[in-house]
Amino acid sequence: MANNLGLAVKPVTEISVEEVERVAAWINTEEYKEKNFARTSLVINPAHACQPLGAELAAHGFEGSLPFVHGSQGCASYYRSTMNRHFREPAPAVSDSMTEDGAVFGGQNNLHEALENAYAIYKPKMMPIFTSCMPEIIGDDLTAFIKNAKNKGCVPHDFPLPYANTPSFNGSHIHGYDSMLLSILQTLTEGKAVEGRCTGKLNLIAGFDANTGNYREYKRILKEFGIPYTFLADISETFDSPLDGHYRIYPGGTKLDDAADSINGKATLTLGPYATAKTFTWIKDNYAGKHVSMSTPFGVAKTDNFLMKLSELFGKPVPESLKAERGRAVDLMTDAHQYIHGKKFAVYGDPDYLLGYVSFLLEMGAVPYHILCSKGTKKLEKELQALLDTSMYGKEGKIYINKDLWHLRSLIMTDPVDAMIGETHGKFAARTPRSRSSASVSRFSTG
Ligand code: SF4
Repeated sequence: MANNLGLAVKPVTEISVEEVERVAAWINTEEYKEKNFARTSLVINPAHACQPLGAELAAHGFEGSLPFVHGSQGCASYYRSTMNRHFREPAPAVSDSMTEDGAVFGGQNNLHEALENAYAIYKPKMMPIFTSCMPEIIGDDLTAFIKNAKNKGCVPHDFPLPYANTPSFNGSHIHGYDSMLLSILQTLTEGKAVEGRCTGKLNLIAGFDANTGNYREYKRILKEFGIPYTFLADISETFDSPLDGHYRIYPGGTKLDDAADSINGKATLTLGPYATAKTFTWIKDNYAGKHVSMSTPFGVAKTDNFLMKLSELFGKPVPESLKAERGRAVDLMTDAHQYIHGKKFAVYGDPDYLLGYVSFLLEMGAVPYHILCSKGTKKLEKELQALLDTSMYGKEGKIYINKDLWHLRSLIMTDPVDAMIGETHGKFAARTPRSRSSASVSRFSTG
């Protein structure tokens, strides 16, 4: 063997074609699956991303908001490029670009300089700050750093700088989303609660939902009802703005004044209980009006619950137009039933999505067969099992908590399914020859 300089290169190991084929076949066996499921200290291709990515999504959902990463430049590029690829839109965000000296001496100088520059250059109305791994490992004190930044005049005293610790070695993107949203709401509503005031509005929170179409659909439903609302962390314009020849750095998001006044709302509804757990707990203690946390409306039953809750909260009947849409959706499901009935599915992803996928598949007479979550809890497992127990189609479903996409590959190689639903990294398993699965449906491409 010779390299491109013509020099002989000794291969490190010699692997015969037969050996490669033997191993390729072996990793599809029950024997390999057992070994794969016995691993404890290694994660391969998890179906989730790191906390700061979720924090950035929440930060993009507000007017004039410039997400600010306290940490490494490479991490900031990863979140941005993930959003670019998913939304096919710019995701303007800044980082204070900590390097070796920051890792040794702490990142306060980086943070102060970057705040001053970003405020002067990009003229944001708010900079939500969140952390990458490095400052979390060295223990940077964000509270003190930000207080010092204001005292030094890096930004004006009244400039909103919500901040969240988002260590990536703990939790996932949904926890980062939750922490950042909580901090933004705490910051913007501080001192804004007015005794006896009621905006008459619904505060709606979608949770970690990276489909701008869903946000528009929620708004359309509220318009049909005639319910005034404030959509908190609204990314529908941020990541789906019209192409009209003018670049806008901050094309949308919830108005900061509306977010501040949301504390005086008539009701607050969160539609992603797992992605908004901390935020909802705080809202219950601090927001006026009624508070409800309910499942993301996937499928008929969960959408019915959502519409009935809106009707109950605002004393308005479900509009006839929505009832007609429901009828058409049920008709469509009946028409498609023959193709889906009895088909086995592998589903994987975030807790809130999984509950929705499973519920919808059961309604279609499909079999949610392998159900996998890379960051889940006993509570989620119980909730999924309870859902499976409601239907004869749920009998064969098996739940795998804290397993990754390499585990899922073993599952579908040894016990194939007809289709997969989850983020796009499942496509590699879906394409393998022994898998019967024909489709991998993208929710969000995480990393
Ligand atoms: S896991 Fe840590 S190092 Fe990796 S991109 Fe996320 S924040 Fe950065």
